[in-house]
Amino acid sequence: MKLFNTRTKQVDEFKPLDDSNVVRIYSCGPTVYNHAHIGNLSAYIVADMLRRSVQLAGYETRHVMNFTDVDDKTIRDSARNYPDLDPAEALTKLTRHYETIFLCEMQEIGNDTESLTFVRATDSIEAMKTLITNLVNQGVAYIADDGVYFSISKYQESRRYGQLSHVELAADTKSRVNNDEYDKDSAQDFALWKTQKPGEPAWSFTIDDVDLTGRPGWHIECSVMSVGELGQPFDIHTGGIDLIFPHHENEIAQSTAGDQPELYANFFVHNEHLLVDGIKMAKSKRNFYTLVDVKEQHFDPLDFRMLILQSHYQSASNFSWDNLTAAQNRRRNWRNKAELRWQIPDSSDDGQVEIVNNLLDQAKAALLDNLDTPNALKYIDEAFDQLSYDNLSHFALDNIINFIDDCLGLAIRIATPNISETDRNDIQIRFEAKTNKDFERADQIRQSLSSNGILLNDLSDHTIWNRQ
Ligand SMILES: [Zn+2]
Repeated sequence: MKLFNTRTKQVDEFKPLDDSNVVRIYSCGPTVYNHAHIGNLSAYIVADMLRRSVQLAGYETRHVMNFTDVDDKTIRDSARNYPDLDPAEALTKLTRHYETIFLCEMQEIGNDTESLTFVRATDSIEAMKTLITNLVNQGVAYIADDGVYFSISKYQESRRYGQLSHVELAADTKSRVNNDEYDKDSAQDFALWKTQKPGEPAWSFTIDDVDLTGRPGWHIECSVMSVGELGQPFDIHTGGIDLIFPHHENEIAQSTAGDQPELYANFFVHNEHLLVDGIKMAKSKRNFYTLVDVKEQHFDPLDFRMLILQSHYQSASNFSWDNLTAAQNRRRNWRNKAELRWQIPDSSDDGQVEIVNNLLDQAKAALLDNLDTPNALKYIDEAFDQLSYDNLSHFALDNIINFIDDCLGLAIRIATPNISETDRNDIQIRFEAKTNKDFERADQIRQSLSSNGILLNDLSDHTIWNRQ
C-alpha cells in the first residue's frame, strides 16, 4: 500500500511500525460546539476511507478519534448558550449534545463509527497534567502568569521544530501565544495549559506549589490522547491540511521533547480543503454548509460521500449543488443496477464474473495506490457496465455490491431492498392491461407507482422497476 506522507513529502510504501499486523491510526476529531461543517465531514470521510483501505491491504486497525470537548470555542459557546449553569455543567451539556449529533452524522455519511475508538479530552486531563509536568521538569516548558507554555527555543536545542510545515521561527524567541488556533506564519511558544479566567470551567493543577487551576490548551489534548491509546510512535496520523500548522507541528513537539521518543507518528496523511462553488468556505461568504443544509435540499448524505470520493483527497473537492446532483445521479445509477438482482434471472455467466472480478481488483489496486478513489469509482462504473438485462450474473453483481459497501462505505445493499409484493403484483397487472390495450388502467398504475418513487421501464417481455 502506498500513501503520501506529509512528513517525508512523498508517496511512500506503507508498512506498520511493528509486526503485529495491527495498524494504529489517530484522527483529529471534532470540536463539539456546533454541527460539523461539510469541510470537516470531508476530512472524516477521508479518514474512514484510509482505515477501510488499510484493512483492504490485509491489516487490522486500531483507529482512535478524539472529541475536543474543552477549548476556547466550546467554553465560549457553552457560556453563551447556558449562562445560568455552572461553567463545567454548561460545558458538558453543550459538548455531549454535539457529540451525539456528530456520531449520527458520521453514520449518515457512511463512516463506520463502530471501527473507531472515541476519547474525550475532558476524560484525559490527568494524563495531560502528567505530560505537562514532565515537560516543565525537563525545562522544555515553563510557567508564565497565564499558564504553562512550551519553549520552542529549548526544544530546538535537541530537536527540530517545523518538521511537517517548515514554518519559520518567530524572530523574537520570547513571543508567546495563548490562543489555540493562531494562524501566524511563524512559530511561537504556545500554551499547554491556561489558568482559569472568570466564568471558565477549571481543573485543579499544581506544579512546584504553583497553583495552576485552569484547563488544557488544544494541542496537548491530541498528543496525550493519541499516545495514551496507541503508544508511541504510532503508524498514521490524519487530519485536514489546515491542521499541519500549528496543531500537528505542536503535537510533534510536545510528544518528542526531552526524553521522549524521537518519532511521534510515522505517516501524516492530510486531505485538501473542500471548496464551495470554487472558493474557500467561510461564514462571512455565506457558503458555510452543514449536513443539515444538504438534507434540507433533499440529498442523501451518501450523495455527499460520493461527491467527496469523486476527487482525490490531495486535490480540493468542489462542493456545489450541481456537483452534488451529479454525485446523486451516479449513486442512483449504481442503485438501479443493484436492484436488477430482484428482477433478472441469474445467467450464471462465469466469463462475466471473471471480467467483473478483474475490474474490482483494479478498483482495489487504485485504493491501495494512495487512496485513488476517483479511479476506483471508474472501475466500479465499468464493472456495472458489464451487467445487462440479457446477461446478469448474480454472483458478479453481488461482488460489486460487497465491494461498494465494504471498501467505499456507500451502503448500496441496504438502500436497494426488493419492492413490496403489492407493488410487484401491480406491475404485473399493468403489464397485462397494456398487453390487452387497456392503456388507461396501465397509466393509472404507472402513476400510482411513480408517486411512491418507483419508475417503470418496459422491455419487450417484462417491465423493469427502479427507485428514484
Ligand atoms: Zn488534533
